[in-house]
Amino acid sequence: MHTACFIDGAFVPARDGRTFAVRNPATDAIVAQVAEGGAGDARAAVDAAARAFPAWKSLAAIERARHLRRIAELMHRDAERLADLCSQECGKPLAEARTEVSYAASFLEWYAEEGKRVYGETIPASDPAKRLLVLRRPCGVAAAITPWNFPIAMVTRKMGPALAAGCTQVVKPAEQTPLSALAIAALAGEAGLPAGVLNVVPGTDAPAIASAFLDTLHVRHVSFTGSTEVGRILLRQSAEQVVRMSLELGGHAPFIVFDDADLDAAVAGAMASKFRNAGQTCVCANRFLVQRGVHDAFVDRLTAAVAALKVGDGRAAGTQIGPLIDDAGLRKAEAHVADARALGARATTGGARAAVAGCADRFMQPTVLVGVTPAMRCFREETFGPVAPVCAFDHEADALRIANDTPYGLAAYVFTRDGARIVRMTEELQYGIVGVNDALPATAQAPFGGVKHSGLGREGGRQGIEEYLDLRYVSWRVG
Ligand code: NAP
Repeated sequence: MHTACFIDGAFVPARDGRTFAVRNPATDAIVAQVAEGGAGDARAAVDAAARAFPAWKSLAAIERARHLRRIAELMHRDAERLADLCSQECGKPLAEARTEVSYAASFLEWYAEEGKRVYGETIPASDPAKRLLVLRRPCGVAAAITPWNFPIAMVTRKMGPALAAGCTQVVKPAEQTPLSALAIAALAGEAGLPAGVLNVVPGTDAPAIASAFLDTLHVRHVSFTGSTEVGRILLRQSAEQVVRMSLELGGHAPFIVFDDADLDAAVAGAMASKFRNAGQTCVCANRFLVQRGVHDAFVDRLTAAVAALKVGDGRAAGTQIGPLIDDAGLRKAEAHVADARALGARATTGGARAAVAGCADRFMQPTVLVGVTPAMRCFREETFGPVAPVCAFDHEADALRIANDTPYGLAAYVFTRDGARIVRMTEELQYGIVGVNDALPATAQAPFGGVKHSGLGREGGRQGIEEYLDLRYVSWRVG
């Protein structure tokens, strides 16, 4: 297990020698003591990335692709070890962690290919003596700040496009989950990635590390995934050096089920969307809007499926719902349930903490709430826990109005068989991602990201690499 900072191709202790403990949220057991990187380490990482940039950007895209593919191959080779590490530090069930490893590798595989297609343009000039060209050049050092809920995939989703574009990178992983990022760095080293192309600075003083990233002209792009609150702080800080930002922030996804939906598919989708990672995903359904005609049938089936979920340590066989990431996460989910109940909602299953033998008191029973109204906290804020609030609606226009009545705009889901309605909903929902009869739309090939307070920019797809490229216009007088 690698626990030191990864700077300039080597694992090195923090400059001041300090470490911090990474704990398994299921058991509170210490998984490892990890280097407590700070501003000095972050600056050293940026310097290493800046030194590595000229040679890396000059490599042929096909060579950069080989490096990315090799790292992906090593991830597949070590999938079981990476999944176990991921489960240990973020608590998610092993089966989900295994899926995360292959999802994470897919960003390296996709961008290994996409990096070969960074085409320029020629423009017909009005002056026949000129040739006008548009080149797309890697922007410089890219910084990545990642959250704990997908400790591997959030790193590679930023690393794939950055490295494929020819940028070098510095990464600050979430303090709860630095080990997965360091494991990826070790595989990059094993794959022969040149020193300084990828650097990882773990630490608990995120503002100090982020400030060091943003305090230099070398860093020309920051990709952040996390809360809207921190996204705003970084956006303000980026003004000083006029740095480009990609922000993947909070979500508050509506999951809309119409009377004409395939109810089996809608319930299966609801389970996949809401309860993956114990409800701690930014695109997970946060509010269920169900048309009156199928409301009771949907609630009955959802309740039966939710009641059957197995809560436990993510590493234990058969676990489907792991712990919340920390005590604050548990308290927030509980507070949302208590607020909803106080205002008249009822739990058809769950609604309380779950006791798991031999584990910490950090588990929540998967919960379905009915009689929920837009006045309740769970209908206005991201819960980030295994709580499914259901609200009935009568007309399509009501569903649309309620769904859009939020400052967030990451993902929305619609379950219906009506083609014309699908067109109306996909055009009118104010969201960056719309899943139509599909609860798991995220994939390396498609642009992922939100509108309004859910963020700026896109990750994934051919759009994802654009974030790391500067346009350079060349006006060439030939006669
Ligand atoms: P968070 O507190 O914003 O943390 C995310 C990252 O930012 C961590 O690495 C954290 O470091 C760092 N950070 C914290 N304060 C900072 C500061 N002042 N300056 C610079 N960096 C700072 O978010 P979280 O609570 O871990 O994650 C949950 C949120 O992320 C949810 O709102 C969720 O919706 C969102 N999310 C969005 C997406 C998406 O793609 N849109 C994906 C996943 C999660 P420390 O860990 O050291 O504090």
